[in-house]
Amino acid sequence: MRILVRYGAYPVVLSLGIVIHIILQKMGVNLHLATYIPVALGALMITVLEWRVPFRYTWWVDKREVGQDAIFMALIQGVLPPLLAFTLSVTLLGWLQGHEWTVEFVWPHDWPVAGQMLMMMVLADGMRYGLHRWAHEWEPLWRFHAVHHSPHKLYWLNVGRFHPVDKGLQFLLDSLPFVLIGVGKEVLALYVVCYAINGFFQHCNIDLRLGLLNYAISGPELHRWHHSKWKQESNHNYGNNLIVWDWIFGTRYLPKDRQVDELGLVNRHYPMTFLRQMTMPFIAGADKETILS
Ligand SMILES: [Zn+2]
Repeated sequence: MRILVRYGAYPVVLSLGIVIHIILQKMGVNLHLATYIPVALGALMITVLEWRVPFRYTWWVDKREVGQDAIFMALIQGVLPPLLAFTLSVTLLGWLQGHEWTVEFVWPHDWPVAGQMLMMMVLADGMRYGLHRWAHEWEPLWRFHAVHHSPHKLYWLNVGRFHPVDKGLQFLLDSLPFVLIGVGKEVLALYVVCYAINGFFQHCNIDLRLGLLNYAISGPELHRWHHSKWKQESNHNYGNNLIVWDWIFGTRYLPKDRQVDELGLVNRHYPMTFLRQMTMPFIAGADKETILS
């Protein structure tokens, strides 16, 4: 049974999410609901799997941690992206029209939705790879990204733990360009279903094995190393959905003979509440010093 879950959970839950998304659309359900219902069901299934088949019992979280991660998830992943989409796309489109500029982009609108989504994923992941790597290698950006690396445990809900500056930059690269060039709503919706469920799995505390998928997908086995406390391990596996860009640039890392040890930042007393983490990037060396509590 455990072996079935280990190898089957990722493809089964992701496929179920996509199938439910398609069925709801065929039933004429509003596209937003048809997108967020399968995402919520995916989160529910992953929560049950974390409880029944955890990767590490020591990564089980308490109510206080869940409460803070829920605030991040609601504000940073729930409220911020639609706000940014609205204000930035309206501002940019208005500016372009004000200058009487028309920008023509080649996008294969006539491809099947799944093909367009895959194309979008490869391109968005490429841009996110560059930003993510820069955020690890350039101190001023790292201070914002350190918020995402602060947890000492991984579980699905802490995929939402990002500083709004970091999330805003990601949005500029992985969503806004595709909204502006007029990629269809159905393509964006399918992308959100895959992006969200894969993101939950990437951070999950489930004893999963992705097998050959580890050569294409940036899943939990690869991403745990990205959250290692040690830079020589964490400065790898930058891929958001796919691991192909890490292959190309030589940063894919998956030791076969050991598991990741400690996660988080060097400063083991880095504050973990939402409000304190909003201010941490403005304190030089906060992720390294141990004097803060
Ligand atoms: Zn990172």
